[in-house]
Amino acid sequence: MGHPFFILYRCALGALGGLKVVILIALSACLPVGIDPTPTLPPTATIASTSTPSPVPSPTLTPSITPILEIETFVIGYSVQGRPITVTWLGTGEETLVIIGAIHGFEGNTARLVEALIQGLAGQVPASARIYFLPALNADGYANGTRLNANGVDLNRNWDTPNWSRDTCYGEGNLVTGGGGAYPFSEPETAAFSAWLLDLKGQSSTPPRVISYHAYHAGGLVLPGYLTTPTGTVTHAPAAEFGLQFASASGYVYSETWPYCPMTGELSNWCAENGMACLLVELHTDLDLSMEEIAVQQAAILDILHK
Ligand SMILES: [Zn+2]
Repeated sequence: MGHPFFILYRCALGALGGLKVVILIALSACLPVGIDPTPTLPPTATIASTSTPSPVPSPTLTPSITPILEIETFVIGYSVQGRPITVTWLGTGEETLVIIGAIHGFEGNTARLVEALIQGLAGQVPASARIYFLPALNADGYANGTRLNANGVDLNRNWDTPNWSRDTCYGEGNLVTGGGGAYPFSEPETAAFSAWLLDLKGQSSTPPRVISYHAYHAGGLVLPGYLTTPTGTVTHAPAAEFGLQFASASGYVYSETWPYCPMTGELSNWCAENGMACLLVELHTDLDLSMEEIAVQQAAILDILHK
């Protein structure tokens, strides 16, 4: 549960181009998510009395106050099956952080974590920062409980990187024929998100940083973005700094290599090639995080912001 004055509303506003415009959302225009905005009043006490009741005064009407929220949710694109890919934005500062979940649809606890972070961080984002939350990049996979998108493509192998490959690998050596897609950004989800990220970068004074949550790896794992060179991969220095900070703050293990099989067409490689520090964070569990575990992630995110 977040701060009582910050009630999350999800408003389908459509794809908005003007990202620098903070739209103040009146509650009446939005649909509440999960929380009933109408406070439940305690039952009126019944008082036994034998006295003659005095005239009941006319009730004084309380002035109607329409809460105004600086929480905006907008749509950056649509999945293969037509589901909206939504981003929620908190804060108005210059430093930009993007947090995404469920790039692999069956890692559903990451989407629910990002949803919880929106509520938990509302009102907590320092004035110097803004955070964009994308709970489920693989909206179809999240709805259908699959790793891949509805075209059978791995959305973390479909990025336009020097090492993009049509056939891909994941986990401890599982091969996926055609997992990289027909070509880089062949999928509407990666095409929309990459275009939006580049647009955001173009509008930001410093490049956005990105945390992409996955699940899971025992103990939790933080993998920094990397550059692809003719002889292999090299860790992206800004991502390394970012990753070490986040690992320290979260208690997760920092690792510059995935020891199981070669990764291709990854978001965190594309980020580095485009000057953005990205982290792949493997949660320590595939279960929904407890309130305490969510609080750890929340504190780690606040910790890595430059204040
Ligand atoms: Zn994953």
